[in-house]
Amino acid sequence: MQHPIYVTKTRLPEPETFSRLCKDIFQRAWITNNGQCVQELERTLAEYLGVSHVLVCNNGTMALMLAIQCAGLAGKKVAVTPYTYVATLSALLWLHCTPVFVDIEPDTLCLSPELLRGRFEEEPDIAGVLPVHIYGLACDVENLDALCREYGAVLIYDAAQAFGSRYHGKSLLEYGDYSICSFHATKIFHTVEGGCVVYHSADAHKALPLARAFGHINDTHYSLGINGKMSELHAAMGLSLLPGTDAELARRREVRAMYDAALEGLPLQRPALREGLDWNSAYYPVLLPDEECRVLAEQTLKEHGIHPRRYFYPTLNTLPYLKEEWRVSCPVAEDAARRVLCLPMYGGLNSKDTQRVASYMNSALYGSAKLFSSNF
Ligand SMILES: *Cc1c(COP(=O)(O)O)cnc(C)c1O
Repeated sequence: MQHPIYVTKTRLPEPETFSRLCKDIFQRAWITNNGQCVQELERTLAEYLGVSHVLVCNNGTMALMLAIQCAGLAGKKVAVTPYTYVATLSALLWLHCTPVFVDIEPDTLCLSPELLRGRFEEEPDIAGVLPVHIYGLACDVENLDALCREYGAVLIYDAAQAFGSRYHGKSLLEYGDYSICSFHATKIFHTVEGGCVVYHSADAHKALPLARAFGHINDTHYSLGINGKMSELHAAMGLSLLPGTDAELARRREVRAMYDAALEGLPLQRPALREGLDWNSAYYPVLLPDEECRVLAEQTLKEHGIHPRRYFYPTLNTLPYLKEEWRVSCPVAEDAARRVLCLPMYGGLNSKDTQRVASYMNSALYGSAKLFSSNF
């Protein structure tokens, strides 16, 4: 069997780069609580991304919770996409929010502004909206922003997968009242575990650092807080990886082009790229013509040591632990979730790898008895 190819591969810095920073940390003997590396990471990230304010924390889920809490949305109704990683929803549920699932656009797979307007009309008490730039692709930020202003809702983007994506010349993280990113080891830029909130208001500038560190400064307690702090060692990983991030983004663009070429002619639907988007190629999602094809493709790849993932299945509106009244049907998302596969994607893949993946996709789709063509 040929070497296995997993859906992604963790990017690591030169060990020397990381250990040099660690040596300094050991010398300072200050290993957490808003240390020097954390502050430097916040500064360099804001500069690298070109965003107003960055607060780093210990993971992306915490970043979501900090943003939801500081936006005053805890316990309220929040519209959310069903087509995302489960953490988007978990953050809402831990803060006792009521999720209002709004289906996605069939082409971009992001939350549909048109359907959102309908939900606002029916449920004027929706206080916040939590769309996801899925796969690092851009939501319809113009219309979502306009709608949230019109209906007085807070707009928080889950941009966990969008590091490095730019839209009309700006980082996708700069959009919305708040935007969160994940720095988990599987993401393009990471700190092993980590995340950040990008924000704009003076209120957030006060509230977020407090919320991240138990809500108090010395003996004065201001507001409800939690432990969302990032350690110096995690920040050092981020500082070590940030300089190589542009090269990783460029490599991913090449891998995407290799896949596009190798898979040409196969009946695969790809999510639409919005005009003005410079995509980070965080994933390589393809939608098979139907569920049967998806099963076959997944099986064939796995038999040959290639490990795609079903990002994102199941859709969150169907989770077993939801309250019955939250389970609205979201046919577009459910259909996409049945047909989607994310093929392996990371900067280290070469053209042999992508051709290997493509040839098994081809044999799954054409080498079998199954004839399809009706949908395409
Ligand atoms: C990765 C991810 C998260 C969670 O981030 P963690 O850092 O793992 O907590 C949340 N939302 C989306 C869309 C993600 O992809």
